[in-house]
Amino acid sequence: MSENSAKIGLGTMKKGASRELERMIKNHPVLHQRTEGSEIYRRIAGRIPPTGPIKTTYSDNIMLVGDVAGQTKPTTGGGVILGGIGGKIAGEVAAEAIRAEDYSRKFLKRYQKRWRSEMSRNLWLQRRVRLYMNNLSDKQMNSFFNVLEKKGLLADIEKHGDVDDQGKLAIRLLLTLQLYPFYLRTFPSLMRALFGK
Ligand SMILES: Cc1cc2nc3c(=O)[nH]c(=O)nc-3n(C[C@H](O)[C@H](O)[C@H](O)COP(=O)(O)OP(=O)(O)OC[C@H]3O[C@@H](n4cnc5c(N)ncnc54)[C@H](O)[C@@H]3O)c2cc1C
Repeated sequence: MSENSAKIGLGTMKKGASRELERMIKNHPVLHQRTEGSEIYRRIAGRIPPTGPIKTTYSDNIMLVGDVAGQTKPTTGGGVILGGIGGKIAGEVAAEAIRAEDYSRKFLKRYQKRWRSEMSRNLWLQRRVRLYMNNLSDKQMNSFFNVLEKKGLLADIEKHGDVDDQGKLAIRLLLTLQLYPFYLRTFPSLMRALFGK
């Protein structure tokens, strides 16, 4: 992007995201002012599964990999790295299945066992952070991001969030949040997010 161009994006769990983005570009005081007279030269849109892995990712003759298996980070929706890990493990299991000439559900179960043992801990934590974020009001969400920025966490998430172990980042986040008043007000939803289903 340059002085004269910008990427503008909207992530939402509500329906009609592109309509909502267009509405914001037209009506939001800052967005409208900064984009007045501009031209849209490319639109990119897509759905991102926000809740983490689905329950079963294999069946007879089938292994599900990537977005369709929910192998995405619930905090950011990033699925390139996790999908790649899932793909590698599925490839290894596929080779084993060919050698054994066994493509049954029972044999392919090992695929799920392996990718879960590699990704689950991180995904569990991230899913909890996501559930907490989903319960914040707009005001609390602003406070949340202010804290992230003030404590340098935002920069760390931007720097390492798409590549590194986000579990450690999530723990640091929770330890930091406890020092702020909005954390107390959102304590029940944090407990539900941490210990609920
Ligand atoms: C706007 C946007 C930005 C993103 N940014 C990032 C990012 O910065 N970092 C990151 O890690 N992740 C990002 N993601 C998520 C990432 O793109 C996905 O997690 C990843 O591409 C999933 O890979 P996949 O192979 O599972 O699915 P896909 O990449 O969606 O591939 C599925 C393929 O299957 C094809 N297909 C579908 N149905 C059929 C059919 N019936 N027959 C044959 N082919 C079919 C589709 O055309 C597609 O090519 C972003 C997603 C979006 C939407």
